[in-house]
Amino acid sequence: MNEQGHTDRDAKPIQRIVIAGGGTAGWMVAALMSKTLGKSLDIKLVESDEIGTVGVGEATIPTLLTFHELLEINEQEFMAATQATFKLGIGFENWRNVNENYVHSFGTTGTDHWTAGFQHFWHKGRERNLAGDYGDYCLELKAALAGRFAHLPRTGMNYAFHLDATLYAKFLRKFSEGFGVQRVEGKIVQVKADADSGHIRSIKLDSGADIEGDLFIDCTGFRGLLIGETLKVPYQDWSHWLFNDSAVAAQTESVGEAVPYTRSIAHASGWQWRIPLQHRVGNGLVYSSRYIDDEQAKTTLMAHLQGQPLMQPRVLKFRPGQRHKTWHKNCVAIGLSSGFIEPLESTSIHLIQRGIIRLMRLFPVRGICQADVDEYNQQTLDEIEHIRDFVVLHYKVTNRTDSPYWNACRSMEVPASLQHRINLFRETGRVFRVPNELFAENSWIQVMLGQGITPKQHHQSADLMGDAELSRFLNGIKANIDRTVAQLPTHQAYFQQYCGAAKV
Ligand code: FAD
Repeated sequence: MNEQGHTDRDAKPIQRIVIAGGGTAGWMVAALMSKTLGKSLDIKLVESDEIGTVGVGEATIPTLLTFHELLEINEQEFMAATQATFKLGIGFENWRNVNENYVHSFGTTGTDHWTAGFQHFWHKGRERNLAGDYGDYCLELKAALAGRFAHLPRTGMNYAFHLDATLYAKFLRKFSEGFGVQRVEGKIVQVKADADSGHIRSIKLDSGADIEGDLFIDCTGFRGLLIGETLKVPYQDWSHWLFNDSAVAAQTESVGEAVPYTRSIAHASGWQWRIPLQHRVGNGLVYSSRYIDDEQAKTTLMAHLQGQPLMQPRVLKFRPGQRHKTWHKNCVAIGLSSGFIEPLESTSIHLIQRGIIRLMRLFPVRGICQADVDEYNQQTLDEIEHIRDFVVLHYKVTNRTDSPYWNACRSMEVPASLQHRINLFRETGRVFRVPNELFAENSWIQVMLGQGITPKQHHQSADLMGDAELSRFLNGIKANIDRTVAQLPTHQAYFQQYCGAAKV
């Protein structure tokens, strides 16, 4: 029995799907849903050219490859169509302290022993003056810094993409229409809900058309037209942990070769992204309006651009947090309508993908079942809370003392789950991945070390190795990586021959 006294037996079979919104979220939903269930469903997507999309969101993480595998998308075609480049991680500049940098790469670092991760052996190596930087033992990280890339057949490289968000939506639109999705142009002016059940019945467009559906996917962006404005699902505000609530974005001409990683450059009251694509560079400054205003942010961004701007800087406002429920009644919110942490670790497109896959697994063909809805909501919340902790870590652990912004970040109280991880690593060097968590141990270690935590000790397993053996072990890994990196082509040369957009 649900809140209104209806039982799941009253549930209606789901046949007509209405996707409201055609940004990255809307078209990703349309693509996977139509490819998977398109033959049995009637899928409509409503979007408004006049309103447009958020127009940012161009850095991804390796899980996007899985999404493309599900869609059976050809990588070269996709990259050419979206002016994409390869991404091996994120370079964090000035985060630990001004002029101190590190990389969070997508690779694994060194080789673990079953009792203890590689970081314990590296820690012992540092104590004994036998080890280089932690990053010296990671192929993806070294290749990123060397500006090199190739698909490697045997050892592999873990990578993602930088892509043009507008072109990606277009690419997925073509794909989805090929699988029967009907696109409807128009502005949604009213959302009609059933007075008795509270379920959404239809959305009315400015043309007067009424689009009825059984299941509605809210992809209307920050506005959350269905889930928030209509169904009144509240929003959990996380701004006490994540101070940034604004961004100013600008695109520039490319200067020099595209590096295979996102640059994240910390400033006094926020951080700047630099995302190299084939045809241009995406830039932006993410900041907290508590510390600087929009004009100051624009000035800071413009002063740190490389290359001619291709547009006027555009300010975006957001509220870090998450909807209490992302599936309510017959409406599922996917994308920015469901919540937004902030862009730091490029997790938003990943969360869109996770939302669609989860919905496909719990798809209510015979009618909406409350147990499915509860399961969906719980899984979504668990997943995003781990990601939130990981992002908050970057702000909490810093040695910067040069501005009120960083002082406030350093001294804030963080979620207990994150504080525990920080304490555990600092005291013992240990890290454990929580089940179903996006970021694996190596991500946590790279960021915790990178932000300035040095563990006080290492596992005893590392002490069982004598100096000579440890040195051989560490040097062997490093030499292998250096050899491989030296043989790789430059990233620029590689993508130009592999998927140069001009070829298509
Ligand atoms: P939108 O792009 O806003 O799309 C909303 C859609 O709804 C549009 O088609 C719009 O026309 C339609 N719509 C709205 N109202 C109506 C209406 N009344 N009638 C009809 N249609 C309507 N994510 C990453 O993974 N990596 C990143 O690097 C990254 N960087 C980001 C940087 C910033 C500053 C911000 C703010 C976000 C970033 N994100 C990033 C998040 C990413 O941009 C989004 O997750 C992604 O673009 C999906 O957005 P969306 O489709 O939910 O919303």
